Amino acid sequence: MILPEIEYHAPRTLAEALKLLVKLKEARIMAGGTDLLVELKQGLVEAEALISLQNIKELKKIEKKDQSLRLGAMVTPQEIISHPLIKQHFPALVEAAKSMASPQVRSLATIGGNIASAVPSADLPPTLIAAEASLELQCTESFREVNLLEFFTGPRLTICRDEELLISILIPVPPPKTGISFLKFSLREANALAVASVASRITLENEVISQASVVLGAVAPSPLLALKASELLEGKKPSPSLFEKAASIAKDEASPISDIRSSIWYRKELIQVLTRRSLAESLKRAQKNPG
Ligand SMILES: Cc1cc2nc3c(=O)[nH]c(=O)nc-3n(C[C@H](O)[C@H](O)[C@H](O)COP(=O)(O)OP(=O)(O)OC[C@H]3O[C@@H](n4cnc5c(N)ncnc54)[C@H](O)[C@@H]3O)c2cc1C
Repeated sequence: MILPEIEYHAPRTLAEALKLLVKLKEARIMAGGTDLLVELKQGLVEAEALISLQNIKELKKIEKKDQSLRLGAMVTPQEIISHPLIKQHFPALVEAAKSMASPQVRSLATIGGNIASAVPSADLPPTLIAAEASLELQCTESFREVNLLEFFTGPRLTICRDEELLISILIPVPPPKTGISFLKFSLREANALAVASVASRITLENEVISQASVVLGAVAPSPLLALKASELLEGKKPSPSLFEKAASIAKDEASPISDIRSSIWYRKELIQVLTRRSLAESLKRAQKNPG
């Protein structure tokens, strides 16, 4: 399908982009365009104008500030894969980025677009939620920081207002004795959305799990923090039987749909297996991580 005629703007600064967002009521923000252009071509969304963020250098930075990493919204999965700070502190995010799409799409797509599109199967949010990431949202008049988990309100729905831009993602550096891992099941190795995915996090204190989270992808309207499974783990000594129990609870907490990629039953089975495996991997990483 051919794109309809659309005005195109490519501001060079964040301030300029924010002003355009206020001025052009029927405009859409374009980051890498890997989701948006497909939707426009298919007639799933409409826009009179596009505001591309490609020329805004300040949205492409990766920096460490105090005890957090700050990733600009225009950082690509390919940059996540190769950046030394991310490799050092968040190997699970590198794995999630590697699992996305193909080298071509990974070089164009952005972390901001992956989050803002709010597609239930998106690969980066579960790991970012497990890492307790927050988002910086900016408009001409105000700035706010929101918890990533609270950003999503449903499939393709977020709390981001029309005049707001997601400008960066803040990820606290995990404390010592913390391990995070991400596992995804898809029908092919490349260019395949998750049928189900799980990110988990474990923090150990004196051989006991002091903090845990299990986050499920592609099995609910938005990435889902499996609260009951997470709570079961806390305060306990890690063991295969504890992980098996948590996995079975996570399976019950998942509320997937049946679609072209999988049935409800199969997605729930996957959640159980992926949760058990992800917890075992997070434990290994926590034990090896002196901080
Ligand atoms: C062949 C193919 C394979 C794919 N495989 C995967 C996969 O395996 N895993 C996966 O997770 N995704 C996959 N995708 C989906 C897509 O590539 C990703 O979600 C990507 O990260 C979207 O980022 P983008 O920069 O291209 O977003 P865009 O398409 O530019 O934008 C997506 C949406 O987010 C909004 N938006 C973008 N940036 C901002 C911002 N800074 N502030 C506010 N709103 C914003 C846009 O207005 C739009 O509504 C695939 C897509 C294709 C075409």
